[in-house]
Amino acid sequence: MTQPVLIPVLGDQLSHRLASLVGSDPAGSVVLMMEVRREAAHVKHHKSKIALIFSAMRHFAAELREAGWTVDYVALDHPDNTGSFAGELARAVDRHKPHALRLTEPSEWRVREDVAAWSAALGLPVEVLEDDRFLCTHGEFAHWAENRREWRMEYFYREMRRKTGLLMDGDHPEGGRWNFDAENRSGPSPGLRGPALPRFAPDATTTAVLALVEREFADHFGALGAFNWPASASEAEAAAEAFLSERLPIFGQWQDAMVAGEDFMFHAVLSPAINLGLLDPLDLCRRAEAEYRKGNAPLAAVEGFIRQIIGWREYIRGVYWQTMPGLATANALDARRPLPDFYWTGATDMACIADCVRTTRDNAYAHHIQRLMVLGNFALLAGLDPGQVADWFLVVYADAFDWVELPNVAGMALFADGGRLASKPYAASGAYINRMSNYCASCRYDVKKKTGPDACPFNALYWHFLDRNAPTLAANRRLANPYATWRRIDAGKRGAYIASADAFLDTLDPARPGWARGGD
Ligand SMILES: Cc1cc2nc3c(=O)[nH]c(=O)nc-3n(C[C@H](O)[C@H](O)[C@H](O)COP(=O)(O)OP(=O)(O)OC[C@H]3O[C@@H](n4cnc5c(N)ncnc54)[C@H](O)[C@@H]3O)c2cc1C
Ligand code: SF4
Repeated sequence: MTQPVLIPVLGDQLSHRLASLVGSDPAGSVVLMMEVRREAAHVKHHKSKIALIFSAMRHFAAELREAGWTVDYVALDHPDNTGSFAGELARAVDRHKPHALRLTEPSEWRVREDVAAWSAALGLPVEVLEDDRFLCTHGEFAHWAENRREWRMEYFYREMRRKTGLLMDGDHPEGGRWNFDAENRSGPSPGLRGPALPRFAPDATTTAVLALVEREFADHFGALGAFNWPASASEAEAAAEAFLSERLPIFGQWQDAMVAGEDFMFHAVLSPAINLGLLDPLDLCRRAEAEYRKGNAPLAAVEGFIRQIIGWREYIRGVYWQTMPGLATANALDARRPLPDFYWTGATDMACIADCVRTTRDNAYAHHIQRLMVLGNFALLAGLDPGQVADWFLVVYADAFDWVELPNVAGMALFADGGRLASKPYAASGAYINRMSNYCASCRYDVKKKTGPDACPFNALYWHFLDRNAPTLAANRRLANPYATWRRIDAGKRGAYIASADAFLDTLDPARPGWARGGD
């Protein structure tokens, strides 16, 4: 092969229809795939997440070779591996003498900044293509966002419904409404359990990677024992099929419910496969719509699922690129408290937090309401530092990539962006968690008590949050009712709330250094 094109394929670009592959000739190209320590450990990602990414990369490389591509794969433990993209690119350029590099844009701001330096460093042209696996282009989102005072997902979502034609009846939304969320918010009934997830027994590739990760990343958070992520296109397809046939019909109704020890409920558990590129988001939505059209799943469930993907997922990605790099340091509520140690250990008497940390550690997964209304809500109410909270969320979930984690954490959960993403903070007292879960029944705190050492900490923290942020939030129209209620409470009781919350906050031990960063 004379002077090929070198095509770096990154760990979340594992799609055969990737722009840089579709536009290239296998006979004149070398695909470069790199397992590098700097990416695996720039924060100390959950062991399962690293194992999933490396295993999925190795499976994808094998599929590419089968399809006729030349793949140069650098394993983490290759003796000459320099540990960084820059070092591995320089070595690959030496090996293959390419005339140019072609790359699909990285999903992450930090890596895109790196890529901007590649051409000068390597002395070669670098062509960067837009990632068309997303439905909304950068240009379309920028156009939608410009001149809008408020970026509301709901309006963006309607545009995406029109663009894709999903659940459309001519120009109108199927069923006469865009959004069926009101039918999707049941609390758990006694004994509620989701069906078991399909099992993916580790094949030889995954087994080798699990051993590598246990050896090389021993001090990273998380357990590998329950590893059950689909790591190839065929496993991801089996996971999608199981969701569409078994859980989609009930997905909506229990979408917000939490049950101790029930880690997956009726959720898709497909975000890692989608984010890595093993599943195509639009294809999934079309298949979900087909289940509705065949009469196998109700409209409310299917609309809810499709909204998560073409609405929330696309919107979050648009917000990321519109607000970076400022979003990474945004702290509109001036929250400075260090992350408590129990986010890593789960050692707290708060039953809700302990269960959410447990599933996070065991599975590298917690579902949306656990992330938003337990772990995120606590971080918001307690005024935890957004940078430390974002690091935690980036480390612990198998689906966590900066473009999707950061807007969800800084924007949705913490209101650190000052309300760009959410029209009001997702702040809630223990009553919400009690309504949507069975956690409180087994908690040592009393969810009905408002103040004192036995009271649910979320109760006093809720008022502490509103009170201390009144200069920033009291003018928010959507918070008019809670602030009016707060003002009606007599001064003595208000003082008791604040004292109770302060006493609780004083008990929080900051996380020991080194969990999220450092040490590698
Ligand atoms: C604080 C916080 C942090 C989060 N961090 C991440 C993250 O790092 N990576 C990630 O993929 N999602 C993140 N989410 C969004 C959401 O919680 C996960 O996508 C979802 O829990 C994944 O599980 P699932 O596949 O079972 O999703 P389901 O609940 O079954 O939803 C179906 C699909 O919709 C998409 N989706 C739903 N909500 C969102 C959303 N808010 N943003 C983007 N996509 C969405 C996902 O692709 C998901 O697979 C976060 C949410 C919060 C509140
Ligand atoms: S009582 Fe409060 S701390 Fe305990 S589980 Fe319920 S909401 Fe969580």
